[in-house]
Amino acid sequence: MAKRDYYEILGVDKKASADDIKRAYRRLAIQYHPDKNPGDKEAEAKFKQCAEAYEVLSDPEKRKRYDQFGHDGLRGAGVHDYSHMNVNDIGDIFGDIFGDMFGDVFGSRRSSRRPGGAGARRAARGYDLETVVELSLEEVSRGAEKTIEFTRQDTCADCSGSGVAKGKAPARCTVCGGAGQVQRAGLGGFFQMVSTCPQCQGTGQIITDPCRKCRGKGTNAKKRTITVKIPAGVHEGQGIRVGGEGEPGRHGGPRGDLYCYVRIKAHPFLMRDGDNLIVTVPLSFTQLALGTTIDVPTLEGTRKLRIPPGTQHGAVLRIRGQGLPNIRTAHKGDLLVKTAVEIPKRLNAEQQNLLREYAKTEELEVSSDSKSFFERIKRHFGNTKQS
Ligand SMILES: [Zn+2]
Ligand SMILES: [Zn+2]
Repeated sequence: MAKRDYYEILGVDKKASADDIKRAYRRLAIQYHPDKNPGDKEAEAKFKQCAEAYEVLSDPEKRKRYDQFGHDGLRGAGVHDYSHMNVNDIGDIFGDIFGDMFGDVFGSRRSSRRPGGAGARRAARGYDLETVVELSLEEVSRGAEKTIEFTRQDTCADCSGSGVAKGKAPARCTVCGGAGQVQRAGLGGFFQMVSTCPQCQGTGQIITDPCRKCRGKGTNAKKRTITVKIPAGVHEGQGIRVGGEGEPGRHGGPRGDLYCYVRIKAHPFLMRDGDNLIVTVPLSFTQLALGTTIDVPTLEGTRKLRIPPGTQHGAVLRIRGQGLPNIRTAHKGDLLVKTAVEIPKRLNAEQQNLLREYAKTEELEVSSDSKSFFERIKRHFGNTKQS
């Protein structure tokens, strides 16, 4: 199978900075993390792809080789093969290579695996969550309070998050005997390596009687409804952070945050351009030529607008202050009115006659039917040949 482009996988530009790459990876890693997508093989595969892409693009040397020679350039460069790797081990690699980048994402796993054993469980912030909130242009203009329903993990009420069935206690881990770490021979048997116990992940305990409600996870998915204030002037794709509405922290850590990403519904007449609105109004030739006053749709109803005589097709007229408020300054943009000439598809006999009379005054040739149009083309080419 052809390998996908690393920039594409992370959804970043070829010129993306190290910070951009880190942010993009962090977001995708949260999105596809197996803890959030239990049993989803596709998410796991994506999680692994992202890890590989990040490993390469976050390393200046590897990135340079990749930029120059593509995937071939990375042969022998020591890029991990993630496809066969256990997901937990990926967290460890990144923990080691990238320091605290995952501090609040995979925090509990990393810290619980740190040397120091059973006592080393550190408080970790919960996962951030994302949701989409849809607004009309009217809501963008005024600002809105939106009711948002989403699902998040909440501490299991039956076991208070311990994952252990009521009246039961966790047992001592059978692999490490409760120490949280195991020793094994290192390279060539020269070193004794101490590593985190693979069975209990360093906690020293295993759950032999899991809570029935959460099946030992300590959390349950729960629907939650909140009201979120969206500021006026917000833009498509902007995220509103709602602190503490993410998933619960572990070992006493605080909850993550909820990010509400804004999507703006299409308006039947008005298009947005920054803080300005654009409306295209169809006008007849006579309206444009002679001038008129029309009703222009705005967000709040209609506004009268004078079209001066001789206005061209595609001209842009401005109604000040009828745009959207700037999200920072609250200063209102303008409504830009673009004219579009509309040619009647059918004229009645009287209209035709009048227009022909008018055309005579223009000293332009007007076709009486389509035949003469082709005659004119013939004449045109005949003329160019002669000249
Ligand atoms: Zn439970
Ligand atoms: Zn153990």
